[in-house]
Amino acid sequence: MKVDHIAIAVNNLDEAVKEYQKVLGVKDVEFEVVESEGVRVAILHLDNSRIELMEATKETSPIKKFLESRGEGLHHIALETDKIEGETERMKENGVRFLGEIRPGSRGTKITFIHPKSLHGVLTELCSHPEK
Ligand code: ZN
Repeated sequence: MKVDHIAIAVNNLDEAVKEYQKVLGVKDVEFEVVESEGVRVAILHLDNSRIELMEATKETSPIKKFLESRGEGLHHIALETDKIEGETERMKENGVRFLGEIRPGSRGTKITFIHPKSLHGVLTELCSHPEK
């Protein structure tokens, strides 16, 4: 596994992107809407990983609820595996709790989330990229 991205919940995506670009000196940014998760995302490309800033696109978005109860900040880390089904199965056999089933993410990825209670308070996404 390797770290695929680190996701941060923000109130105002356009303002947050400007701040992050200024502070980190990152020029390479892409925007994307993931309707299934109710988020608009700005992807900042780092040398070895990505930072994803996320804002809610609707009232029912999980990010909206997160921002209301916890405020802005680290939302989840994402770990990439090329065998998401096998890893999920192995973890479930070891008592790991998940939030939802494996589902389509952005750009042909498959994603699922490990419950933060199973990883000492850190919401963790598992993702796999489509085969090239
Ligand atoms: Zn993510």
